[in-house]
Amino acid sequence: MRKTVIAGNWKMHKLLNSAGQFIDDIKSSVPSAMKTETIVCAPYLFLPLLVEKAKGTDIRIAAQNMHFEEKGAFTGEVSPGMLADIGVSHCVIGHSERREMFGETDDSVNKKTHAAFAHNILPIICVGESLEQRESGVMESHIRQQVENALSGLSDEQISKTIIAYEPIWAIGTGKTATDEEANDVCKHIRKTIAELSNQEIADQVIIQYGGSVKPDNIGDLLAKSDIDGALVGGASLEADSFVKLLEEG
Ligand code: PGA
Repeated sequence: MRKTVIAGNWKMHKLLNSAGQFIDDIKSSVPSAMKTETIVCAPYLFLPLLVEKAKGTDIRIAAQNMHFEEKGAFTGEVSPGMLADIGVSHCVIGHSERREMFGETDDSVNKKTHAAFAHNILPIICVGESLEQRESGVMESHIRQQVENALSGLSDEQISKTIIAYEPIWAIGTGKTATDEEANDVCKHIRKTIAELSNQEIADQVIIQYGGSVKPDNIGDLLAKSDIDGALVGGASLEADSFVKLLEEG
């Protein structure tokens, strides 16, 4: 009953022209959003152009970050209201690169999640463990804590609309993918955590993506698993051909 959600996360790649061209290139191959939702997560500067180009298609445009404050003296930041104003529908929140390099914490992730909903922006919340956490046996408690903290204070309805991206840090950009079983086990654990926070009916509605070296040749097996409802894809989302192949598997 859950639909598939495939999101391309461009990170800090592309220039304006190639970003716009990408939407033109994939437009005719995008599946119906009734079945598979297509999201492109792009750098801020490209967002107005991409929203314009995606009008009338089933492509949704997302930001990769935002501030949680409405407005104010926050030099260099972008507010959720600004994103909503130009037609951005989703925002990646708490990507491990932002947690590692830009001081993002569970607390800021929670604040951003609330701010996103206040502006009708749907959050794609990233959680995931390091190799050290996996090997030392604290993975489950770490993920549980990330999920609980991120969703704290949200209504059941908001939780049901949240997208969680499970991205093991050791699998991002490394070519190492978690096995389908490993990925599915953690996604199940995330759904169980959500059921405990709200209830099973809500947890069953939440889209849980896997991310970390997803490619056209491994996405099919991942999506076939019971609790993996989509993918957040970095490297393999940069070329239109490759992204379309990912969508075709959705
Ligand atoms: P990757 O990145 O597909 O290049 O591993 C995934 C992500 O960081 O979202």
